[in-house]
Amino acid sequence: MMNEQRFWHRLSGHFILAGGALILLALGQFQWGGVTETELAVATAVPTQPSLVEETGVETAVTPTPLPLIPIPVLNDSSLVPLPNPLTYQTKPPAHTFQMHEVARGETPNIIADKYGISADTLLGGNSWLSQESNQLQVGAQLIILPVDGVLHKVRAGETLESIAELYRVTPQAIIDYAPNNLEFPFYRLVPESELVVPGASIGQFFFTAPKSVATNAAGQPQWKVFGTGTYIWPSNGRCITQFYNGFHPAVDVSASEGSPVYASDTGTVTYASFAAGTYYDYGNLIVINHGNGFETFYAHLSSIGVFPGQTVTQGDLIGFTGNTGRSSGPHIHFEIRDNDFRTNPLDRLGGGYQNCS
Ligand SMILES: [Zn+2]
Repeated sequence: MMNEQRFWHRLSGHFILAGGALILLALGQFQWGGVTETELAVATAVPTQPSLVEETGVETAVTPTPLPLIPIPVLNDSSLVPLPNPLTYQTKPPAHTFQMHEVARGETPNIIADKYGISADTLLGGNSWLSQESNQLQVGAQLIILPVDGVLHKVRAGETLESIAELYRVTPQAIIDYAPNNLEFPFYRLVPESELVVPGASIGQFFFTAPKSVATNAAGQPQWKVFGTGTYIWPSNGRCITQFYNGFHPAVDVSASEGSPVYASDTGTVTYASFAAGTYYDYGNLIVINHGNGFETFYAHLSSIGVFPGQTVTQGDLIGFTGNTGRSSGPHIHFEIRDNDFRTNPLDRLGGGYQNCS
């Protein structure tokens, strides 16, 4: 196979490089300044020719300055290669070509994602800085459009292919199989600071912590960047309740056909906007909005999500569409209002009448 040939070719290269470096070190007579890079490559790559080594020795004798140590190639690490150096193993960095998108007025994450046939999650996956921004998607912002659904991950020191795969709950093979990542058989070495596309991953699985306060008012009380009004509007157009609030179901379920609009019940900051993995699986696609006044609202079982974690929304904004994801027996919205983590009866705060469809 091609890969294996390359591997053996590389491996023999290592032994030659290592041998050359060791011989030079042992002689203690090598001087960097006196040798050009080309000569160095020859001297290290062909250690069995004694004439070249001796030549180096002669030059050293002429200039008796202290000698810098030659870096010895690292051969036995399994995860990270040192930064590029002429004497060390050369690993090809990833070679990505990404389309860019400039955000236009009125564009939502869903509109942009649809344009390129990717999910709104992937928009966040390619531009993780969006999750740290508390502002709306800014007009004029440049977004990376990943060619496949996933996350663009920056490799940090100490990370391995396995640790990255585990972080996103994908298999290492999925990362290897994505050709532009340039991960080569058999070591699949990672280049620090390079960026890997992790197909199938979602950055939305990480909770975003809403800013607690940005300033204090005249009375010294904390001021949120975005405050709720303290009033709550219905998250859906329909008011047909299929399941009421009780101890086992601390929410209301409102019937809605698949793909009906879902609105922000009050102004706030989106703190979660993704499929609710792990113990939250039941919620399916979930949006959580923190209203900055101790209250949060939860919108579950959505078919699609139109907001990012960190985005601020105003009461009545369209944030997604109803669906049947997670533990759900038909399209509806599961809606919670939490008061400092206590799940209250939403009907105590939602104005207007409703129908009993239970
Ligand atoms: Zn429910």
